[in-house]
Amino acid sequence: MGISLVYEPDALAVQTFAAGLRGELIRPGDQSYDAVRQIWNGLHDKRPSLIARCSGVADVIDAVNFARTHNLLVAVRGGGHNVAGSASCDGGIMIDLSLMRGVRVDPEARTVQAQGGATWGDVDRETQVFGLATPGGNVSTTGIGGLTLGGGLGHLRRKYGLSIDNLLSVDIVTADGQFHTASATKNAELFWGIRGGGGNFGVVTSFEFRLHPVGPIVTRCAPWYPAEMAKEVLTAWRDFMATAPEELSSHIIFWTVPVHPNFPAAAHGRHVIIISALYSGSAEEGARVIQPLRELGTPLLDLSGAKPYTMVQSGFDPFFPKGELLYYFKSRYLNNLNDETIDAILPRNGTKI
Ligand SMILES: Cc1cc2nc3c(=O)[nH]c(=O)nc-3n(C[C@H](O)[C@H](O)[C@H](O)COP(=O)(O)OP(=O)(O)OC[C@H]3O[C@@H](n4cnc5c(N)ncnc54)[C@H](O)[C@@H]3O)c2cc1C
Repeated sequence: MGISLVYEPDALAVQTFAAGLRGELIRPGDQSYDAVRQIWNGLHDKRPSLIARCSGVADVIDAVNFARTHNLLVAVRGGGHNVAGSASCDGGIMIDLSLMRGVRVDPEARTVQAQGGATWGDVDRETQVFGLATPGGNVSTTGIGGLTLGGGLGHLRRKYGLSIDNLLSVDIVTADGQFHTASATKNAELFWGIRGGGGNFGVVTSFEFRLHPVGPIVTRCAPWYPAEMAKEVLTAWRDFMATAPEELSSHIIFWTVPVHPNFPAAAHGRHVIIISALYSGSAEEGARVIQPLRELGTPLLDLSGAKPYTMVQSGFDPFFPKGELLYYFKSRYLNNLNDETIDAILPRNGTKI
């Protein structure tokens, strides 16, 4: 798409573009400009020259064509959660999909279709009413767009795979302004590319996913052990997960208990290691399966139990507020979690070994 950072305003062209949109065109100086341009990571303060708040495919086609014709830098915003801030740009145009959040479930075919700006909260809400789910992220305000196009790891991954493993088709507007449907049998190479290729192949206006029977009640495992126990907890968790049933997906969180009324005052500020897991099968079986993970010592807190799936999916939302904090994320692939790796991890999380 376009590469110019500096927008040369052509008032008539902009006016014509704005008049054609069913959504809204926002410019610097407009009352809502600052609120709308804000993305999740407060570290980024980018100022697009234009924000096209699209209401549907037709607006997206117009926005892509306008950007190409005027050689504008393009950023596409789905949920706006990308840590690197790629949902926005300085100069150029933000194609904002955040008004496009419609979701339609076909309970018989076990599929869901969701617009490109929907969040996982939008999708889970609609699918869970039928006791169905597709693998998504762990924070409900994250967009299905960026998460799916990057792969998508969540609580259902060991049983049902990544988000892209469950993607059946997309509707997409490519850089030439053309609309396509891509699936395993139609535009198959494009479909291959978008499954992990991020937003580089066009603007996805709709995603179709396969659904699985999950919930509405699932088993949450969440014992919070004091960080002093980190070595034994990590080792025991690793050994447990090596033979755990696939219904159980789990990860480890090192954290500091926030000063928040949800947590007992005595725990505030304590460093903890949390075993965070979800069992997606029956609640009774789940309670039995997770029990050993709750008995590795005396937890400072234990938030385990039978919970609505939507509650688990949104449980961390309050701790990832939009625009308020300056985030820096880093990640690394590991081949295994051997003792040497554990010894390398612990001091980096402030734990003595
Ligand atoms: C609090 C938090 C929790 C997270 N949890 C998880 C998790 O559990 N699992 C996981 O796998 N990842 C997780 N992530 C990472 C997340 O998947 C990525 O940050 C992802 O890019 C967010 O997607 P988004 O649509 O919200 O972001 P955006 O910033 O809107 O988009 C990210 C990128 O994708 C492009 N894009 C977005 N939508 C579209 C579209 N419809 N068509 C074309 N391009 C598009 C954008 O242009 C941008 O380059 C998390 C991130 C955060 C901040």
